[in-house]
Amino acid sequence: MDHTPSFGTKRRRTRSVRVGDVTIGARAPVSVQSMTKTHTEDVDATLAQITELARLGCDIIRCAVPNRKAARALPRITAASPIPVIADIHFDHNLALLAIDAGADGVRINPGNMRNREGLKKVYRAASEAGIKVRIGVNSGSIRPRKGLEVRPEAQHEEMADLMVREALAYAEAAEKEGLRDIVLSLKGSDVPTTIAAYRAAAARCDYPFHLGVTAAGPPNISIVRSAIGIGTLLAEGIGDTIRVSMTGPPQEEVGAGIAMLEALRLRAPVGPQIISCPTCARCEVDLSALVEEVVRRVQGLSIPVKIAVMGCVVNGPGEAAEADVGIAGGKDFGYLFRRGKKVRKVDASQLADALIAEIEKLSSGGDGPQE
Ligand code: SF4
Repeated sequence: MDHTPSFGTKRRRTRSVRVGDVTIGARAPVSVQSMTKTHTEDVDATLAQITELARLGCDIIRCAVPNRKAARALPRITAASPIPVIADIHFDHNLALLAIDAGADGVRINPGNMRNREGLKKVYRAASEAGIKVRIGVNSGSIRPRKGLEVRPEAQHEEMADLMVREALAYAEAAEKEGLRDIVLSLKGSDVPTTIAAYRAAAARCDYPFHLGVTAAGPPNISIVRSAIGIGTLLAEGIGDTIRVSMTGPPQEEVGAGIAMLEALRLRAPVGPQIISCPTCARCEVDLSALVEEVVRRVQGLSIPVKIAVMGCVVNGPGEAAEADVGIAGGKDFGYLFRRGKKVRKVDASQLADALIAEIEKLSSGGDGPQE
């Protein structure tokens, strides 16, 4: 698959950084990350969550390592994890050194909160010797207090973004002086305009791959909007190599949202069913929400990229969803099963979901497959 966004914008050329068996940058497929939300020292729970996220399509996982107990759990986690593990470290460079020893595939630090400069150099040297990557993460929250900036009025987005970029590049330069080349940068603002401005400015000034995200993005419904705008805008411009949708919610939803963003921009080929449904209007004569819910539940786990439409009326539904491989259009007493906009047969209203599932099963068993 061509990993150029659907708009045709060429992806930014960057250096290539390996994280376990995943390549970040150099126009490799954009990878999806998430973070475990278990206590890292609870190895069984952490590995169970990683395995579940990997099954859902997560490419790289990050585990917080806030103390030595968590660091001591890392060797068992890194040894058994099905995907590369990045240790997330704040404040204490010794924890980063322990994580590198423990076989982590990468560490994520914010040098701005590691006061021990010599310790930081040791981390860069150890990572370089171990051949693992370091993500240097700068966020607006860690800059603001030190620079004495007030909560910004609109005009300060560019100014904050510029400060973030200058700080991140200075940290990266210090890391390179210690021999580290495998660097990924992140420049997360807590609001979307600052985030976009920071990544755009950095893109023009370095060849480091970028980890994209909007930090502290909020609960799922809010985070998805903010992240889709922030991450999506940059990806559409060809900027960004790995992404994390952060949200106050289950990591499974973070992964789902990340994959949906990549699929929407055609940066990742769909691996499962894509459901489209209409917003309903006065012509709708069925409980479309319940019908959609049932279809979503019944196609979960299918691994064919079939586009399925669930529409509210037999008059306009099939035509409005003409690009779907297969669909149903609801009606009061009966509805229609349709394929690529053409009615196939009339179906009793109570049998619509069953008819749709049977048709999808026919497709997945190799019959008349979905079309591109
Ligand atoms: S498919 Fe029918 S019910 Fe749904 S929005 Fe269109 S006209 Fe309305």
